[in-house]
Parts: sequence; C-alpha cells; structure tokens
Amino acid sequence: MTDPFDALAGLIEEHALVPLLWHLGLMQWEDLAYGWALFAVYGAAQVGLMLAICLPLEWWRPVERWADRSPVLTDIGYTLLARVGLLPLVAFVGFYTTQTALNGWLADHGYVPPTLERLLPALLAHPALTFLLYALILDAADYWRHRLSHRWRWWWSLHALHHAQRQMTFWSDDRNHLLDDLIAALWFGVIGLAIGVPPLQFPLLVLLLRLLESISHANTRVSFGWLGERLLISPRFHRAHHALVSAGSASCNYGAVFPCWDMIFGSADFSGDYRPTGDPTADAWLASGNYAAQQWAGLRRLAKSIASAGNTAPATTTETARSFLLEGVDHARKNDTILADQRSRRARRGLPGVDAAKGAAERRGAVPDL
Ligand SMILES: [Zn+2]
Ligand SMILES: [Zn+2]
Repeated sequence: MTDPFDALAGLIEEHALVPLLWHLGLMQWEDLAYGWALFAVYGAAQVGLMLAICLPLEWWRPVERWADRSPVLTDIGYTLLARVGLLPLVAFVGFYTTQTALNGWLADHGYVPPTLERLLPALLAHPALTFLLYALILDAADYWRHRLSHRWRWWWSLHALHHAQRQMTFWSDDRNHLLDDLIAALWFGVIGLAIGVPPLQFPLLVLLLRLLESISHANTRVSFGWLGERLLISPRFHRAHHALVSAGSASCNYGAVFPCWDMIFGSADFSGDYRPTGDPTADAWLASGNYAAQQWAGLRRLAKSIASAGNTAPATTTETARSFLLEGVDHARKNDTILADQRSRRARRGLPGVDAAKGAAERRGAVPDL
C-alpha cells in the first residue's frame, strides 16, 4: 500500500511545484521539490494532530475565556505560515542542501564531520535512543537561545512579540518576529550540523519538538503531576514563562520541551499557578495588531532598543504587572480602537469584518495571583 503522505506529496509536486518551477526557470530545484512537499504535508498533518489534542483540552479545562477571540486569528496565521510554509522549507531544503554542500567541502579537505553514532558506536544498535539524544541536545541549544533572547535588549525587542499575546492558546507557539524566527532557524541548523543529525531526521525532529511546544502553550489547566512536570514541559510550566512578571530579563522556565535544562541551570519555577499572560510594556499594536502591524511594531521596537543605552533587557516588576492589570479597562479600550480600525479598513476593501471587540473586560475584576 502506498504511504498517503508520499502519495499526497507526489501529487503536489507533480501538479503544483514542477509546473511552477518550470514557469520560473528554476528546474534545478526539481529534486528538492518533492522533499519540501513531503514535509509540508507532514506539517499539515502535525497541525491536524495539534488540533485533535489541544482543541478538546482547551474546551475541557480552559484557564481563561474571552468574549472576543480575534487576536487568536493572527496566531493561526502565524502557525499555518510557519508549519506548512516556512518551516519545511527551512528545515528540509535549507538543512539538506547546506549539509550536503558542507560535508562535500569538508571531505575534499580530508575531514569527516562527527555524528553521535561515530562518537558512541554503541548507539548504532539503538536508533530510538539516538533520536532522543539528538532531541535533548537540540533542546539544550534552544534553551540557551531563548534565555539569551530575554537577556539582551535588542533580542528581547523581537522576542517580546511572542510574549505580547494576552490570549495565549496552542496557536501562540509560532507567534514570532520573522527576524527572530530566522535567527532561531540558523541557531538550530548550525547545532544540527555540528552534531551531525542525519538530514532526514532533522525535519522530523523539528516537527516533533514543535508539536510538544504547541501543547505547552494551550489555554488549559493541565499539569503532568510532580514527576511528569519534571520530565516534559506542561501547559502549566510554560504558562509561568508567559506570566506578566516573566516578560523581560527576569524570567523563568525558558525550556521548550524538556524541563531538565531549567532545573540544571537554575531557572525552573514549578510553583506557579495559572497566571495572566502578556507583556505589560508591549504597545497595543504588538499585542493586538494584525500580522503586518506586529512585524512592523517589532522592527520599530528593535530600532529603539539599539538606539537606547545598555545591553540588558528590562525586567518586569510585580508593581508594573499589577498596575497593568488594574488598567485593564484602558488596555481593553486601546485594543477596541485597533480592532475597530482594522474592521473599518476591511469593510472599505469589501472584506468580511471581524466581530465587534468586547475587549478584555474580564481583566477588570480582582487582580489574580501574579
Ligand atoms: Zn520567552
Ligand atoms: Zn512561548
């Protein structure tokens, strides 16, 4: 029986990619088109799996309920672009071509790059263990990338886009500035090349790790129990990282998949309850603007951070977080202005409008645990 992923990728290649490449005069990429199509199909399947796991969780035990969910729509756009479009392209085509070229160049100079299996030949008999080791090493690299992006002011100005979302859901994982995504892909790719992850395993590893990351962003009261929380990052653990007081340089729980790196490097916080999320210093466009507005706001913030003195990102104090919550009505009003503006522009272009914003009125109540 034919593998349905293969069959679908074959159809996409034959009926869409090859005609497109031919039309553009780029037939030298034909060999890679199938690989990209295959991982785009895997990406779409991953989104399907993510929906099957996270939708029931968010419906069953939501942490927050919102009258107006339009800021979530933007995050859906981020996910589809990253998982089905960009990620397979970068993870497969970029990694595969770079690794082939690099290995060829190194071999010409009499050097064979190391792989985990060559360093530890006993691993050859245990492919599942090798896969887990690759995942652990890539996750450690990602831990440090994330931690530094909170530490350095210029990097935080980009990463703040990820934290600005006040309606965090499983769609929020891919909500990143394009420049930040680019740095992350390079960082991940360079480490992958350095430890010799086999080219076909790399995109699969990325898909699996990203699926687990999506689950950790879900708007759901789910923890994995005392032991489980120390083995795999849960929605409760990652929510503490997105808490208002965790925006900026004094944060915690930087890990993406395995909490061991936070435990080893002293940044784990297992104590937190389900706290309100967001970045109190992010302007309203960064939080509730559409895709283009958020990207533009991120660039403006980057330019400002480069011009300002000091390399370290600011930390959010409990006082700032508290007054942010107390000013909830004000923030809701700002969001309403942005959403109304977007609605009227969409209406002028004859596009369907977004539902009227009712704002984050629930924030008007008592200040919850920070
Ligand atoms: Zn972060
Ligand atoms: Zn996150």
